[in-house]
Amino acid sequence: MFAPPPYVQKLLEALRAAGFAAYPVGGCVRDGLMGREPSDWDLCTAARPEQTMAVLAGYRLLETGIKHGTVTVLTEGGPVEITTFRTDGAYRDHRRPEHVAFVPDLEADMARRDFTVNAMALGPDGEIVDLYGGQEDLAAGVVRCVGEPDVRFGEDALRILRALRFASRLDFSIEPATAASAVKNRALLDDIARERVFAELKGILTGPGAGRVLREYAPVIFRVIPELAAQAGFDQKNPNHIHDIWTHTTMAVDAVAPESVPRLTMLLHDVGKPACFFTDEKGVGHFYGHGEKGAEIADGILRRLRCDNATRERVCLLIQNHDIKPPQTPKAARRLLARLGQDAVRQLIACWRADCADRAGTVRARNLALIDDWEKLLAEAQAGPAPCFSVKSLAVNGRDILALGVEPGPAVGRVLEALFEAVSDGAVPNEKEPLLEMARALLRGL
Ligand code: ATP
Ligand code: MG
Repeated sequence: MFAPPPYVQKLLEALRAAGFAAYPVGGCVRDGLMGREPSDWDLCTAARPEQTMAVLAGYRLLETGIKHGTVTVLTEGGPVEITTFRTDGAYRDHRRPEHVAFVPDLEADMARRDFTVNAMALGPDGEIVDLYGGQEDLAAGVVRCVGEPDVRFGEDALRILRALRFASRLDFSIEPATAASAVKNRALLDDIARERVFAELKGILTGPGAGRVLREYAPVIFRVIPELAAQAGFDQKNPNHIHDIWTHTTMAVDAVAPESVPRLTMLLHDVGKPACFFTDEKGVGHFYGHGEKGAEIADGILRRLRCDNATRERVCLLIQNHDIKPPQTPKAARRLLARLGQDAVRQLIACWRADCADRAGTVRARNLALIDDWEKLLAEAQAGPAPCFSVKSLAVNGRDILALGVEPGPAVGRVLEALFEAVSDGAVPNEKEPLLEMARALLRGL
């Protein structure tokens, strides 16, 4: 048995005291029944938005969703969305309805909801209102459309990706008819706004069932990212790689932390491979330059999906560098740190580990041991004296160089670059006096 927290209970009681039916609904009921802490509490009510606002006049209210019947209440426990029972009006282009119609009863509201596990409400006495077998599907771990899957995906194609997202996040399977319909109707996703697609994609990738969902619903994923399609079944003709590229990719996704940057990186890390494939005279496959190529393709994909710039740039940087020759010496380690920065290097090491997650046992053990060595080398380089990762973090700046009598202009930058190189190589510590000393020597030599 689970109950809403007091800040939600107060809202329910206020609405009910005013004569309006009101229920927690959707994700919070699903999560509560699973014994999880709901991320937020959504309520539905017979009260129309203006009635909800009148009943809750003592609260701070947001009206941004009012067209769809939603009033947001700012409570001491956080914002709570209260939506009037509604049915959805006509759908245009397989997107959200333009208009909604308010209805007096909960039953009609339940029928518009996407999946049985999301179509449950919590009644005043703790009873579960469950018209579509949601509890049974929850217990069996199944995502199933409310109603006819073809109709529901036809109304709103985003539900196709939502089905995959819930399958990944809850680690559920998708009921066969729902699954077949999702794959069959995947072309309808072309009409959905790219930012909404991307939000669902990130949800799919960061769930515990990500790799499995990517494998089982590859045609849906390839509809959204056609650049990945060539990976499916791609024989790498290389004894180091025991899987086709797509299977390898999905396993690499599971092998990194469930956060957007590492998961997007592993999803796209080998996107350049098919284009770079060639076989040597022995018939062994190679993919030289696929990091560089992959970063270029990934950049296009992430721009198209309206990914934020910081995520896109970091993901592309990691992809570009995922197949570099790792540092074998302290000098190379310092250079890599200088070039990428500590944070990206830490993420890159995680990518290297994930990239060999599906290797055959002995190869994997050998690779992991090597990565441990590189990591140690990088950690030592990082712990060294005053790490310096760009010209900007040098212990001297342009003014110091000008003070040595250099003419303002490009020469200043050239001296700083030379000092940076020297620090990166460990030839001089990143400290003011030694750097000025070296700058004087450089200038004498010019
Ligand atoms: P999360 O924990 O990710 O927020 P959620 O189930 O609360 O999961 P929301 O996107 O917040 O998902 O939606 C709240 C509820 O609204 C859902 O549980 C579902 O009943 C309904 N819903 C949301 N989007 C759709 C949709 N596209 N089609 C039909 N019903 C939807
Ligand atoms: Mg929610």
